[in-house]
Amino acid sequence: MAGEPQAGCLFCKIVAGDVPATVVRQTDTVVAFRDINPQAPSHVLVIPKAHYPDAASLAAAEPTIAADVLREAGEVAKQEETDGTGYRVVFNTGSGAGQTVFHAHAHVLGGRGLEWPPG
Ligand code: IMP
Repeated sequence: MAGEPQAGCLFCKIVAGDVPATVVRQTDTVVAFRDINPQAPSHVLVIPKAHYPDAASLAAAEPTIAADVLREAGEVAKQEETDGTGYRVVFNTGSGAGQTVFHAHAHVLGGRGLEWPPG
């Protein structure tokens, strides 16, 4: 069923506590934890607890939870103190765009200058 945990999904395992993660924020619907391979001094992933393969499918099925992810991304930036200097929220969608984990997630990157356009 849509939104249910998927066997073999790494981020579902993090939600369940079966894979350890450095959690920085948590709500009823969302978990935020540090990326294991940070691309900036502050690099946090914000994920819905429910399993959807990407941000668009999450937003189509559960717009309130998609909004929770965006709000928590902003709260992470505040907590990490990157909101003053600027930060970036990225949803890689599809393997051609660099998505490697097919459970919706926002990258929240900050703490250094960020170039545009991204590679
Ligand atoms: P994607 O490439 O946009 O799908 O992002 C997946 C992210 O998950 C990458 O930035 C990885 O470094 C990160 N990642 C993979 N495994 C783990 C983990 O076990 N804990 C935290 N982050 C992870």
